[in-house]
Amino acid sequence: MRLTVAAVALALLVTGCTADPEQPEPAPSTPAAESAEPGPGDGDPTDLGAAESEPVEDSVYPRVGDPSVDALRYDLDLTWDRKRQRLRGLETLEFRATTTGDSFQLDFAAPLRVIDATLDGEPVETDHVGKDLVVAAPVEADREYTFVLRYAGRPQPVKAPTTRSDFSTTGWTVSDSGSVWTMQEPYGAYTWYAVNDQPSDKALYDFTVRVAAPWVGITNGVLESREVVDGQTVTEFHLAEPAASYLVTIAIGDYAVRRDETSSGIPVTYWALRSQRGAFRDLTFGTEALEWIEEKLGPYPFSSAGIVLTESTSGMETQTMVTLGDTDYIRSKPVIVHELVHQWYGDLVTPTDWSELWMNEGMTTYLQLVWEAEDGEQPIDTVMENLRPVDQRLRDQAGPPADYDPRAFGSGNVYYCPALMWHDLRREVGDDTFWRLVREWPRTAAYGNATREEWTTWWEEQTGLELEAFFTAWLDGDTTPKPGEV
Ligand SMILES: [Zn+2]
Repeated sequence: MRLTVAAVALALLVTGCTADPEQPEPAPSTPAAESAEPGPGDGDPTDLGAAESEPVEDSVYPRVGDPSVDALRYDLDLTWDRKRQRLRGLETLEFRATTTGDSFQLDFAAPLRVIDATLDGEPVETDHVGKDLVVAAPVEADREYTFVLRYAGRPQPVKAPTTRSDFSTTGWTVSDSGSVWTMQEPYGAYTWYAVNDQPSDKALYDFTVRVAAPWVGITNGVLESREVVDGQTVTEFHLAEPAASYLVTIAIGDYAVRRDETSSGIPVTYWALRSQRGAFRDLTFGTEALEWIEEKLGPYPFSSAGIVLTESTSGMETQTMVTLGDTDYIRSKPVIVHELVHQWYGDLVTPTDWSELWMNEGMTTYLQLVWEAEDGEQPIDTVMENLRPVDQRLRDQAGPPADYDPRAFGSGNVYYCPALMWHDLRREVGDDTFWRLVREWPRTAAYGNATREEWTTWWEEQTGLELEAFFTAWLDGDTTPKPGEV
């Protein structure tokens, strides 16, 4: 997700970035190791093995998600009645039970009502209390099942566990003009489908969205078909690489589309509401941003890329289809760079637990600041030294980055403190090693999840340095570590 408005103003201040940056300089080339890198869409798309996860109970938000379900593929057929603001859904969920029991549970918001449900073709009873949908059917550990749910209702967003100014709710949101958008970090996908709504359970997705023409529905993945049937626009999207539920997006409205392609051949689509004038001028910077990031992080890891502009006021790194709000800042180049860097850091490799949000935001913010420094022709050392005094203030306000207040999700501490940490480590190991490892890490856990321990251990192994005290001081400490002290 993007940074808070206050944090952003700070970033612009310290980097000296202007509202209308000039073209970025060519990035220094980094060593490549393409041959061993996994590519998007590798393997049989019907093979659900790629979506196998080891779900865990989240330590920060344990009430959301259930580790007894390992979702493999969601097929969502959604019909939006925009006049009555009513959603009808036909969901087919293929999942693996991780434990043996008499029932299993999904997250599913109360305004949605179950019409009927089957498990492997047999009708099953459901008990829907609050946001918990309990399905009364015996399941065996490590067996795969197909759960089909028909539902309907008027979706409502849910309160977000945050003090940020740019969003206070998550999930399905209907704007004043009637268009629909979603942002759902750290949770909120359950406002529009039944889901194991936690980061440790990634799954494949197929979407069909139906809405009265000329409106159109947009989701993650590759647009496989678009046609008008009986006055309805029907779009089908396929996401070939597993995604966590917080990285899923849907937007519905009177959208126009522009198509582009990176020099490396990745198709990019940009979507903006016809009322959002001048939007494409801003959004299409995404192609250039992707090319800059590929220089730093290696080949883009998914089959397609895109940006959908919504009537939100925030931004989100939704997988293969970034969701941006319609404000001057959110449409700016640094935010576009930020959300696209997340495609490697956050989307390709995803934290297992919300205590590891810094794993997404720290490195992404650092890459964003490197881009801003290059763009503003400032040394990155200067940019980061200007940030150093801010670190203590952020720790005082919101706690250490790896031990934040659960009611203050996404505060500045998870962005800037670990960004400084990575810069200090870069100075310790040198540019060649640093950039090689920054490029390699997302591929070591490609299309899956990783834990803090896996990542920090990997850095120790790769650098040959004893780094436990360093990471502990930066991630868990109440005070800003001094350069070279740990
Ligand atoms: Zn972010």
